[in-house]
Amino acid sequence: MTGSAIATITLTASQVERVLAAFAAPAIDQQKVRWGMVIDLKKFNELPLAKRKRVYDVCKEIHNIPIFPTAKDRVEWIWPADFEHTFPSQFNHFLPEEIENLEVPVLCNHCENPPCTKVCPTGATWKRDDGIVTMDYHRCIGCRYCMAACPYGMRSFNWRDPRPFIPKLNPTYHTRTKGVVEKCTFCVERLEKGLQPACVEASEGSFIFGDLNNLESEISKILREHYSIRRKPELGTEPKLYYLI
Ligand code: SF4
Ligand code: SF4
Repeated sequence: MTGSAIATITLTASQVERVLAAFAAPAIDQQKVRWGMVIDLKKFNELPLAKRKRVYDVCKEIHNIPIFPTAKDRVEWIWPADFEHTFPSQFNHFLPEEIENLEVPVLCNHCENPPCTKVCPTGATWKRDDGIVTMDYHRCIGCRYCMAACPYGMRSFNWRDPRPFIPKLNPTYHTRTKGVVEKCTFCVERLEKGLQPACVEASEGSFIFGDLNNLESEISKILREHYSIRRKPELGTEPKLYYLI
């Protein structure tokens, strides 16, 4: 996420090979749950500012995400971006203003073909059977190769001890330490309890979450019936986060 930090990292030849291998078409096991998300941008943008802000804030609150006073230290799992920079390959200046001006929530795409997991030297990040790209913070050595490999800038690094900067500690969720990477987890801790991700719950119906492998799920039906876009589709990472415009 931190541009200046990403620019200083150089991948080794074998890591570059693994990143390139990541762009081969992934095999999808249709028998398993495969979690995905749809964000209806028009519906989301119709929400009042306070409700949109709540979608971002709830993630911070339940996941003990620190609020640092300096932008360079920022740690975030979901945040607002603009259309032009989120969808550079879909953007052109002839788009209607109502699309050009959309606020776009961005979070980890939980890519089907995630380049970030291929470069981790310790196996601290991987794609689970249900498609969620997850992390083991204890195995993270802070090399930030995964940050360099993510073409979306969706990972954050703890440059400082985050704990003193957590506004209100949620005692039921873990905290992280200085020197580890973190990112959106699709709220696995909530999914395990049969709940929806927190941002989805706060989104007043503008975020839809579900099983992409179940053709009868709401998310599958929505994707069948509506035109959707994904970030940088030309890279072959196969994001499981879709946007309706
Ligand atoms: S968005 Fe980035 S961090 Fe998330 S799975 Fe894709 S490559 Fe990895
Ligand atoms: S799915 Fe959960 S972890 Fe990911 S952005 Fe939404 S609230 Fe945060």
